[in-house]
This record gives sequence, structure tokens and C-alpha cells, in this order.
Amino acid sequence: MTLIRNADTAMYEAKNDGRNKYKIYSSAMGNFVDKQLTLEQDLTEAVKTKGQIQVYYQVKIDTQSKNIIGAEALVRWKHPKNGLIFPDDFIYIAESTGLMVELGNNIIEQSILMIKEINELGFSSFKMAINLSARQFEESTLVPFIALTLQKHDIDPSQVEFEITESISMSNLENTLRILTELKTLGVSIAIDDFGTGHSSLAYLKRFPIDTLKIDKSFVMDIVSDEEDRVIAQTIITMAHSLGLTTVAEGVETQEHVNMLQNMECDTLQGYFYSKAIDKEAFIEFFKAYDNK
Ligand code: C2E
Ligand code: CA
Ligand code: CA
Repeated sequence: MTLIRNADTAMYEAKNDGRNKYKIYSSAMGNFVDKQLTLEQDLTEAVKTKGQIQVYYQVKIDTQSKNIIGAEALVRWKHPKNGLIFPDDFIYIAESTGLMVELGNNIIEQSILMIKEINELGFSSFKMAINLSARQFEESTLVPFIALTLQKHDIDPSQVEFEITESISMSNLENTLRILTELKTLGVSIAIDDFGTGHSSLAYLKRFPIDTLKIDKSFVMDIVSDEEDRVIAQTIITMAHSLGLTTVAEGVETQEHVNMLQNMECDTLQGYFYSKAIDKEAFIEFFKAYDNK
């Protein structure tokens, strides 16, 4: 039994490396697969257990007024043994095991409840950005679930924005277009995440009902020192505005970034310069202490 499993592991590794390869089983490979299996089991448990999946929030700032205009919901996994796990280390597991829909719904529900808490502080123009994975787009219950959750918590759909990546838009064009249209009909807005890093054609900007482009942090990072990144960022902003879209810069880390993006007329700023993603309680404290004009 072990022999077969080890051979399978080696085959899997060889496939991962590309075609026509062979691999000799090593115990390190086995450890990797065992760890993945354990994580899979733990994640199945986590999505069912209250408190393990926690949504953190990173503030979004209006470039001109410097007021808080919203936040992005970023999921974290509080693993009972391994501590805090970041999304890049478990979203792919959720996607490959069929857990993504349940996990995604959990994230949507927590984020919408958070809007309610902020509204109760007397601030009703707060907009929450929620990431959607390609896997959630394949599920016909996505839009009804969102509609129901908004209704259940009495939240205006205009307070929610969904962030999708260019990879979603590519995989199944007709389905993507239909779901985006349904979401827009509901009254939520749509942003393209990591804009400029994917391989979508500019024609999709015309075909899809998009409201916002998020300039990927890889362009923002060197915006001060690298002429090319600066030109790319400026081009995205100018193009977005010509098409009637707004722009968000992510990965804003320094005052220089802020100044430059302000000169470029980028609408919204997000990054460590203002705050990392923080848990619900910390975000509410941050929000209360912030000097909104
Ligand atoms: P993303 O949507 O592009 O999110 C931005 C990532 O950049 C976040 O990492 C955020 O913490 C980080 N970041 C924010 N400001 C700065 C900055 O100033 N400098 C730098 N270097 N990084 C910054 P995080 O939270 O680890 O999330 C990683 C990715 O995981 C996200 O990338 C997103 O694709 C995915 N993800 C996160 N939450 C969710 C979720 O709820 N659902 C889905 N489907 N994916 C999620
Ligand atoms: Ca995002
Ligand atoms: Ca991004």
C-alpha cells in the first residue's frame, strides 16, 4: 500500500515538472503530500468551525481627501496548531478540494456583517471589497447567496464591491459575463484585481460591466524609481478614467508613493502606508481613531 502511494507521489511530482519525466520517490516528497493531506482535512474542519476562518480588513483611502472610503476583506486561517495561515497558503487547497464555495460564502457573510457594524458607527458610505475566486463563479448559487445575505443583514448592495482577477474572466467567457451582469443588476460593483498582470485583452474592459481597476502592487512598488512602472501606472489610470472607471493602487507603502499617485490622479490608495490588514476589532478601533474629515 505504501509502495503504491509512494509511486503515486513520485508520478504526481513528475507530472508537475512537465511531461516525459520520471522521478524517484524521496521521503521529502512524501512529507509534502502528507502535509497537504493533513491541511486539507484541517481546512474541511476549519470551514465548519466558528472562529478559525477570520476575515481581516485593510483600509482604503480616498487619494484627495484622505478619508476612509472602505476596506478590502482579506481572509486568514487561525489554525489551532500552526497559528495564523495566509491565503496564498490555503486558498489553492480550498479551490482544488471543493471547499472554496463554503469558504467563500463564509467570507462573504463575515464581510457583510462587518459593513453593518461600521454603519452602526454612523458611517453609511463605507464600501467593502470582497475577493471572489474563479471556483465561486462556477457555482450557480453565488448570486442568490449574495442577494440573500445582503437582504438578511439589510445592507445596501452599493456598499459592496467584488474583486475578480483577469484569470476568472478568461476561463469561461459566457458564464463570467452572465454572472457579472447579474451582480451589477443586484447593485454591487466590480473591480478587476491585479490589473496588468493577467492576460486578458483590453476588449474585455468594454464587454464586462466593470467599475474599477486595481493597479497591481508590482507596478506600484517601484513607481518612484522605475520610469517604466510609472508609465504603466499612469497609462492604466488615464485609460480607466477615459472609460469612466475608477482606480485603486495597492501596495502603497511610502509617502513618495502617495505623492506620486496623487499627481497621477489615482482615485484610491491601499497599502501598508495606511495599515496592514487587521482583525475586526482592531479595524473598528482604527476606524474610530482615524481623522475622517
Ligand atoms: P490580493 O487580492 O492582491 O490582495 C492584496 C495582498 O497584498 C494582500 O495579501 C495584502 O495583505 C497585501 N498587501 C496589502 N498592502 C500591501 C503593501 O503595502 N505592501 C505589500 N507588499 N503587500 C501588501 P494577503 O492578505 O496575503 O492575500 C493574498 C492573496 O490571497 C490576495 O491577493 C487574494 O488574491 C487572495 N485572497 C485573500 N483573501 C481572499 C478571499 O477572501 N477570497 C479569495 N478568493 N482570495 C483571497
Ligand atoms: Ca484583492
Ligand atoms: Ca491585488
